[in-house]
Amino acid sequence: MQNFINRLEKLSKSLNETYSAKSVVSTLGDFFAENFGMKSLEIYTRVANSDEIRDFSQSWVINDKAGELKYMFEDLSAENIIVKGDYIYYPFYKHNKKIGMLRIEGSISNDFLEFMQIGIFEISLKIQNIILAEKMQKSIDFHDSMKNIAKIIESQYELNYIIPLIGEMIDKFISNHLIYIFLKDQLTGEFHLAWPNMCRDDKIFELIQSLTPKSVTILTNDGKTGIFPLIEENKVLGCIVTKSTDGKLTAKELEYIQQLVNQTATTINRANIYGEILKHATLDALTGFYNRRQLEERIKQEVAGALRQKTPLCAIMTDIDHFKQVNDTYGHAVGDEVLRTVAKTIRAQLREYDIAGRYGGEEFAILLPFTRIEEAKMVAERLRAAVEKRTVDISRINPDIETTAINVTISLGVYEFNPHDKDGELLKKADKALYIAKETGRNRVVISENEKDE
Ligand code: GH3
Ligand code: MG
Ligand code: MG
Repeated sequence: MQNFINRLEKLSKSLNETYSAKSVVSTLGDFFAENFGMKSLEIYTRVANSDEIRDFSQSWVINDKAGELKYMFEDLSAENIIVKGDYIYYPFYKHNKKIGMLRIEGSISNDFLEFMQIGIFEISLKIQNIILAEKMQKSIDFHDSMKNIAKIIESQYELNYIIPLIGEMIDKFISNHLIYIFLKDQLTGEFHLAWPNMCRDDKIFELIQSLTPKSVTILTNDGKTGIFPLIEENKVLGCIVTKSTDGKLTAKELEYIQQLVNQTATTINRANIYGEILKHATLDALTGFYNRRQLEERIKQEVAGALRQKTPLCAIMTDIDHFKQVNDTYGHAVGDEVLRTVAKTIRAQLREYDIAGRYGGEEFAILLPFTRIEEAKMVAERLRAAVEKRTVDISRINPDIETTAINVTISLGVYEFNPHDKDGELLKKADKALYIAKETGRNRVVISENEKDE
């Protein structure tokens, strides 16, 4: 009897010190090996809303093709444990619902059976707590991410930037599914895949053609494909598609997606409206540089001017080094602040008639009229050094993080316009040099040599 109580205390104590599914399973394995000479121990739990069984210590569904575990699980009941070969199976219950089972390998002693009469409740309770904690954690993570996404979405209108974020977010919270985001071209009515890069499933393309502004979520008969239309102001803007690789969507997952779908539809609609407005605007809201469209306009004008007046013209392309890491480490609001600061730093180094444009996310293009390559090279070097020296104060952006200031560097490609260049060659050549700057170590200036044409 003393032995029994000792062991029970030992079990409680070691379970109390474990917080993850993995550590519970390994702790129990050790406990039963030590006290009852058991050889192995596994825990299986039922996947919510499906009849799949998963290995509790792993996040994936186990390969139980022959259905052996499934049958065993069906057969288990509160009244009887099952002994088969060297294995003993115990069920776990919660509110009269079977939620999982324990499998122990080894020879059964009376000691062991007696111990398990109480022990199994202890273990069952722990399993339930872990499952609950996991669910809550997922829910907390989801709500945190939702908040973050909402913040980004408030300040961003570039769909090219937002859509991948949303895709990755869904991907993170929905396990065992492929996720696709389609956008509908409002002029041609055609759907095109916006995220990820490829969809091999032609049936999906077929299915989404039938979406109308009245459509609601479609789940295929086998429950494996979900189509979530993105509808706003009576327009189909696109859709999010989930395709199962294993198991069905759970009620919680459906709820997650639905929330994101609503958010996404609003965002796309706003981005479209903003895009229309932007067509008439000239400046980029974040950096104050010319926006892409206006930049292209200015390039045309400067190239025409350089040709007409036979004056030199140079272009610099810059790209922030490892910028993704900044976003990933400190969040996108901090990333935006870095962009603003880098833009300001660059502007401060330029002459009044130099032209700075935001070419893409964190890529800037700079035009230097009346400038030869030697001089442009010096300007580029000055920009590089200024950014390197500049510290970005982030203490006000995200008070939750310890770091208050960060430094970034930029890589630059420089090119001097050649009168024989074709349209668009100017930035392309500068970009090529930028690429080499990246390849050869970053935080540096590379000149694109003009092919001699005389
Ligand atoms: P590399 O040194 O090779 O340039 O590395 P990188 O991480 O900077 O790589 P890349 O240039 O491909 O990454 C650009 C990142 O910039 C990806 C995107 O998340 C981020 N980004 C683009 N536009 C914005 C923006 O407006 N705000 C923020 N915060 N991030 C942006
Ligand atoms: Mg880039
Ligand atoms: Mg970059």
